[in-house]
Amino acid sequence: MRKYTIAQFNKEFPDDDACLEWLRNYLYPKRIHCSTCNKPTKHHRIKTKKVYGCDYCGHQISPTAGTIFEHSPTPLKLWFYAIYLMSATRCGISAKQIQRETGVTYKTAWRMFHQIRSLLQEDTPAFTGEVEVDETYIGARKPGKRGRGAGGKTSVFGIAQRKGDVSATVIPDLKRDTVYPIIKEHVIPDSMVYTDEYRVYNRLKGHGYQHKRVHHASKVWVLGDAHTNTIEGFWSALKRGINGVYHAVSQKYLQSYVNEYSFRYNHRKDEKPMFLTILEKV
Ligand SMILES: [Zn+2]
Repeated sequence: MRKYTIAQFNKEFPDDDACLEWLRNYLYPKRIHCSTCNKPTKHHRIKTKKVYGCDYCGHQISPTAGTIFEHSPTPLKLWFYAIYLMSATRCGISAKQIQRETGVTYKTAWRMFHQIRSLLQEDTPAFTGEVEVDETYIGARKPGKRGRGAGGKTSVFGIAQRKGDVSATVIPDLKRDTVYPIIKEHVIPDSMVYTDEYRVYNRLKGHGYQHKRVHHASKVWVLGDAHTNTIEGFWSALKRGINGVYHAVSQKYLQSYVNEYSFRYNHRKDEKPMFLTILEKV
């Protein structure tokens, strides 16, 4: 991935006007369509507002309409900077850090943080070929039971295509009725699915998949191509991130955290800087 430095950011987005101009050019690469004239027309910037006016009829249009910036009194430059900050670190940053860096109130920072993160939810293409399926547990570092069914923890179900993308979903339980619809939604039949020995995976063949198991109980972590290292690598990055950046995540927001990490993982090999990838989703 090309690095996008803070110097580049400040050069390209020196002020609110530059941010608005970027938005206009991105959303309307050619002429803006005027709904009154009912055709694409020349527009001019109206300096006192975040809008452009039609040269012919004066009808005004704001490039922020329908974006996360709409109705926000926070300056565009601070929004763009917050997006930059979230893209610039490997593990992400918290609302608290956005507050510190931008100087907005915590309430505003929190809102910006969740708005920006809402952009990071993406559909993955259907998985095929070699696919790993696994589940993990996140949350409440309470003493007591570990692993499946551990108290106070939330289950996350993950699917990874080797050398490809991941998709991860917070689930209420690990029952067949929960797990199989997710697998069938994401994985093309006849793909080779690798799992551990958990019994919920017993019926994969019956659902039209090829299936190989890893026998963790017998301490055989990798046997030929039978491993789940891809998805386990993703789990450990996710947990490191949560522990490092957020310390703890409430169950309510866990899916959005998982989406953020999936987004980072799935764009890890992009040529385009992540800042621009996120910006183009506003
Ligand atoms: Zn017009």
